[in-house]
Order: sequence, then C-alpha cells, then structure tokens
Amino acid sequence: MADIKCTHCGTMGLQAGFVRDSGQSAMGFASWVEGELERGIFGGAKLMGRQKWEIDAYRCPSCHHLELFAGRPS
Ligand SMILES: [Zn+2]
Repeated sequence: MADIKCTHCGTMGLQAGFVRDSGQSAMGFASWVEGELERGIFGGAKLMGRQKWEIDAYRCPSCHHLELFAGRPS
C-alpha cells in the first residue's frame, strides 16, 4: 500500500507500520474495537463480544501525519 496519499499534505509513498501497545497484558499492537467505549467497574474497557480489528498505520515522511486503517479482524 505504498501508493497511499497523505490526507494532510498530499505526499505519496507513506511508510507502513503499526501502533504499538506495550501496556499490561498487551499483545504488542493496538486494535480498533467496534462500538463506543464503555468502562467496567475497575475502569477498563468492556471488550466482551466486541469485534476487534488490527490497525495498520502509515506514516507520512513529510509532515509525520499517521493514516490509520483497520482492515483485518484480530
Ligand atoms: Zn503528510
């Protein structure tokens, strides 16, 4: 997907990558969760029954803007 265009400045050829999650019990990458954020009694996000998607993040080498795509179920 190197032909992705930056929606902020128009540069072509964005750098592929992903958003890292290094928090407790994280799998190493962040995911997009369908539906609005709901918190449980301990403050954590309710995830049961929610569809989760891997996030592809493309970085613009000119203005450093990130373009995010959630195209694969995780
Ligand atoms: Zn840009």
